[in-house]
Amino acid sequence: MTVVDVYASADVIARSIAAGEVSAVEVAQAHLDRIEAVDDRVHAFLHVDRDGALEQARAVDHAVASGQPLSPLAGVPLAMKDVLTQTGVPTTCGSKILEGWLPPYNSTVVERLLAAGVVLLGRTNMDEFAMGSSTENSAYGPTSNPWNLDRIPGGSSGGSAAAVAAFEASLAIGTDTGGSIRQPAAVTGIVGAKPTYGSVSRYGLVAFSSSLDQAGPFARTVLDTALLHSVIAGHDPLDSTSISADLPDVVSAARAADVAGMRIGVVRELSGEGYQPGVQARFAEAVAILESAGAEVVEVSCPSFAYALGAYYLIAPSECSSNLARFDAMRYGLRVGDDGSASAEDVMRLTRAAGFGPEVKRRIILGTYALSSGYYDAYYGQAQKVRTLITQDFQAAFASVDVLVSPTTPTEPFRLGERTDDPVAMYQADLCTLPSSLYGGPAISVPAGLGDEGLPVGFQVMAPVLRDDLAYRVAAAVEAALVSRWGGPLIAQAGALT
Ligand code: GLN
Repeated sequence: MTVVDVYASADVIARSIAAGEVSAVEVAQAHLDRIEAVDDRVHAFLHVDRDGALEQARAVDHAVASGQPLSPLAGVPLAMKDVLTQTGVPTTCGSKILEGWLPPYNSTVVERLLAAGVVLLGRTNMDEFAMGSSTENSAYGPTSNPWNLDRIPGGSSGGSAAAVAAFEASLAIGTDTGGSIRQPAAVTGIVGAKPTYGSVSRYGLVAFSSSLDQAGPFARTVLDTALLHSVIAGHDPLDSTSISADLPDVVSAARAADVAGMRIGVVRELSGEGYQPGVQARFAEAVAILESAGAEVVEVSCPSFAYALGAYYLIAPSECSSNLARFDAMRYGLRVGDDGSASAEDVMRLTRAAGFGPEVKRRIILGTYALSSGYYDAYYGQAQKVRTLITQDFQAAFASVDVLVSPTTPTEPFRLGERTDDPVAMYQADLCTLPSSLYGGPAISVPAGLGDEGLPVGFQVMAPVLRDDLAYRVAAAVEAALVSRWGGPLIAQAGALT
């Protein structure tokens, strides 16, 4: 019997399957066994689709046997955030209000993955409706960080990041509204990318904040991340905000890993007070790597970034208060109090009271207030102006540098429970990721090493709209230098589950 290496990269796994050295079914089974062995400790998955995964794997094996052309990720197992619909597979968004709901259609991301022969292992835990930074807002209990089970895996896509970091899946999909791919990637020691807004379809992505939501890839290497990115990105007529322009070749950029002659801007506002010393030290080392690889590094000021948090926490809740109105007890999932005598309004009120958790309610209330006629200009209108100023900061910076860099998060992963009673402290986890979400440009987090507490720290690269290739090129250069220094990927040093 062939031994399947769940520690191998997606690229290597796909090549072995294509060469007939191992079957896709054996690869899927090895990952299902790994989930069985560790997921009671990690709790990355809300639902494992064993039968569906094995059936998809058999189809790949059939394609190999009959000599059909294969995509570069055919047969590679993937963990899907529980917010993108998959026909007949439970989709809860981490919420009680969607418990038991089976979507009648596939999201475009799922369609593209299935068409590429990627094997969907199951659905991953998340903060309810993607609102949070620690995966503690899930109605189904928290996920743990595979590096230290008492720490948060980041959020809101913490289940997806933890599945990849715990070697339960080679690849995962997350969504990033204000940082929910990059921040969990950083604190679990893996790679995560937020593509240019509009380059990955939102069709079938349950909406939180439509002008910010963007699905994207997680993997353990920059190349695997780029391979997954190129499978899911592309124009989709089913999404009216989908971009029809040609997209850059991120796979070639990840392979090139060459920064000679590039101009790299260090954002002055994303450092200093509140940033752990270990985070700043790893950041400085990564910048030094880029300099010695021939990049020119300059400091850049983006003064409006200081207001990103305030603007985001008006815009995102405003859009959420409108988007979540669809959960009305009539169309999806939970229905409470429908005893024949209650009015439709009572059933809606009881269902929403029972079905939504405290953070979702907080955001709906905040957003409804900010959009109300007396306050619209003072809050929502003002936040949109700040969003424009942040975009102008990016545009001014990109007139003189190719990319901007910063730490991905101000701190290492904090303890489970440490910030659950302090929403503002929780929001601070996204200080570095919010600006590029508001701008809509691509950004990637790549492991930079371990901080003072021995836990992962990420390095963020932000690029101009539709220049995802530049972010990959810089991330790959940092990765190449650090992997040769460490003698292997950072994630190989994670010890909690071995
Ligand atoms: N942590 C941020 C929030 O709670 C971002 C979440 C996200 O990107 N989905 O809104």
